[in-house]
Amino acid sequence: MKNTTEVLIIGGGIAGVSTLYHLTQMGWTDVMLTEKLELTAGSTWHAAGNLPHFSNSYNIMKLQQYSISLYAKLQQENEGGVSHHQTGAVRLAHTQDRMDEFERVVAMGEMAGLRLEMVDTDRLKELYPHLNTEGLLGGMWDPDDGHIDPTTITNAMASRARAAGATIIRQNPVESIEQQPNGRWKVTTAKGVIDAGIIVNAAGFRANEVAKMVGHQLPMCSMEHQFVVTDNVPELEKLDHMIPMLRDPDVSYYLRQEGKGLILGPYEPGGIPWATDGVPAAFGQELLAPDLDRIEEIMCTAMEQIEMIGTAGIKTVVNGPITYTPDGHPLIGPVHGYDNYFVCTGFNFGIVQGGGAGHFMAQWIVDGHPELDLFELDPRRFGDYANHEYTVAKATEVYANEYQLGYANEYAMRPAMRDQKTVPALLRQQQKNAVCGAYFGWERASWFAPEGQPAKEVHSFRRGNWFEAVAEECRLVQEKPGLSTFPRLPSLRSAVTAHTTGWNLFP
Ligand SMILES: Cc1cc2nc3c(=O)[nH]c(=O)nc-3n(C[C@H](O)[C@H](O)[C@H](O)COP(=O)(O)OP(=O)(O)OC[C@H]3O[C@@H](n4cnc5c(N)ncnc54)[C@H](O)[C@@H]3O)c2cc1C
Repeated sequence: MKNTTEVLIIGGGIAGVSTLYHLTQMGWTDVMLTEKLELTAGSTWHAAGNLPHFSNSYNIMKLQQYSISLYAKLQQENEGGVSHHQTGAVRLAHTQDRMDEFERVVAMGEMAGLRLEMVDTDRLKELYPHLNTEGLLGGMWDPDDGHIDPTTITNAMASRARAAGATIIRQNPVESIEQQPNGRWKVTTAKGVIDAGIIVNAAGFRANEVAKMVGHQLPMCSMEHQFVVTDNVPELEKLDHMIPMLRDPDVSYYLRQEGKGLILGPYEPGGIPWATDGVPAAFGQELLAPDLDRIEEIMCTAMEQIEMIGTAGIKTVVNGPITYTPDGHPLIGPVHGYDNYFVCTGFNFGIVQGGGAGHFMAQWIVDGHPELDLFELDPRRFGDYANHEYTVAKATEVYANEYQLGYANEYAMRPAMRDQKTVPALLRQQQKNAVCGAYFGWERASWFAPEGQPAKEVHSFRRGNWFEAVAEECRLVQEKPGLSTFPRLPSLRSAVTAHTTGWNLFP
């Protein structure tokens, strides 16, 4: 076995393999990946493989856009070796707020160069004839959405990385890690010791085992997630093409064609964290026990909307662990307090994000920074407050809110694990009717509601109930000395922009 390398990636899921591939694309060929079992053996092999561009974050949209175009390119170059289906996808809106959210994302998509468009119910019916549009206001259409077989794309990147000179060692778990005085790493694996200049922790739901070997803990845990695969659906057997994907965020599920059947994946409230005290040592390429009761209600609503779902029996239920961080975004980049150590993990949408994550990870390593400011993915966005208890509670909350409307400030005002860090003035601020949120663990005033009104933000994509109160505060500190909740902002306009974009400026 090769025993020295410039970069050693730990974990052969889509994130690790994509990082390896992108390093070789940037000209670094003395690079190595070690995998405990087989490539894709963690969460990657059983993912549904859905590939949305949709995101409320511009950076994540760009990252997903990169993945999807990379996968399309690799499919072309692999002449059928990669199973990628660009079926297009509709998203349904039951409320005006959901339509507002789609408008915002469509505008962001335009900036990113995507072909997202708003659609009315007639167009929805045209795009998805099996849909009952009763109760819908309209939706969104992305012609370039689709799905991929996660194993074929991971293998395609792995074989390209190998061809460029990278080394992949399978059946080789990392057992211990020690940093040498010269900053290099001594990594002990089942097959021998590897001397590595840089290490990348891409160990998926075992990333905290690897982190512990280095001497720290990552704010991530796993949640159970299930999807149901149906038998052949007679309606689909008649077609010679694949129907688009469908997502109903208000009911909280995705639906796509799989062969001549369907995959239905709900995100249910009351999600179940998995193996929070550590993944059992013997857990390998396995699934978890199905529990249809948890997702039954969502499935029944889906069947009312798309009758053909109910015309086929259930072939399989896939229940697997997905990693979640406290804010639902992955951890990509260096870890505070360590040299030559990066993480690329914590993905709940690792298939659609894996390609872009590997691209940015390789840029972090080779150039010292990625081409975009990826603060919202940087592991250093969390502090010590994001301990084990915090992480499990927030991850459970994020799972239940997977399809929550992407309002500014909504996340900061969610109830789980508030008051992690408080300043002495907080009580007095609350007595003055402060509407509080949690920012980097700090419980702080976001704005002050007028006397006699509830200290609660009514979220909206339009001017919310905060608008007049924030405007008044800005007017006052423009005209008189004072301490605003937006102290560094010179004008009313920028303060309002800050509020609507959810910037978290001050503890
Ligand atoms: C039911 C289900 C459906 C999903 N559907 C989608 C979807 O439609 N779209 C989407 O984008 N995402 C989806 N996901 C999420 C997706 O599967 C994951 O986000 C993604 O696979 C994570 O990839 P990864 O490389 O980070 O981790 P993993 O695939 O888990 O890879 C980590 C690897 O590290 C290895 N490893 C662990 N410890 C060590 C060690 N000590 N030494 C060496 N190697 C080690 C493991 O064996 C494993 O192979 C789904 C997940 C589930 C469970």
